[in-house]
Amino acid sequence: MAHILIVEDEPSIADTLLFVLQGEGFSVTWKTLAGDALKLLQTTPIDLVIMDVGLPDITGFEACKQLRKFSNVPVIFLTARGDELDRVVGLEIGADDYVVKPFSPREVAARVKAILKRVIPVAIAAPISGQIESPSEAKAEFCVDQERLQIFYRGQLLQLTRVEFKLLQTLVEQPQRVFSRDQLLTAMGATADAGYDRSIDTHIKTLRAKLRAIAADAEPIQTQRGFGYLYQPERN
Ligand code: CA
Repeated sequence: MAHILIVEDEPSIADTLLFVLQGEGFSVTWKTLAGDALKLLQTTPIDLVIMDVGLPDITGFEACKQLRKFSNVPVIFLTARGDELDRVVGLEIGADDYVVKPFSPREVAARVKAILKRVIPVAIAAPISGQIESPSEAKAEFCVDQERLQIFYRGQLLQLTRVEFKLLQTLVEQPQRVFSRDQLLTAMGATADAGYDRSIDTHIKTLRAKLRAIAADAEPIQTQRGFGYLYQPERN
């Protein structure tokens, strides 16, 4: 049974959601302050968070940013402001979905189920969620979530720019294949020209730094001198 956390300061909205989600068989906890929610998230396994954007202490956006420093738990935003949706779904904030108020609680329940279904392989690979159920998933060094444009490395969510995402995705999807800089550019949908050539090197450098922050000794992205780059999966 999945455990869902609702962070919402309006009791009538929270009550409706609680009622519907509990009716669907979920275990539900309700907090009115982002601060209390973050505290709970640090100590309790939560499978999904439904977060209001307009909270009394800090905004839902800010709460999500803080949350992403220690957890990959899926977040659905409840927002009354349509013009901020781009920000909500923005990669930098790390939200998974949003619902605009007023909403139908059934619709929210449907989205909750859809996300939980989608993130199961990711949750298995993530050490944060604890349980390892599928050996093949758990062993995967990289886990690419196409829909959310996210890549997990050793179970940890990488904070990637769009370019870095495409680059890393291209490499990890064909392990041990050596890509030239031009091939990488083409795979990334860019046109190959002289100016971009070196920018691949820069992106690789940033990517490696991000990977090293998770596993200092591993070198999954390797250089093939005079040709380009490849993803060398870890041997075990
Ligand atoms: Ca509110």
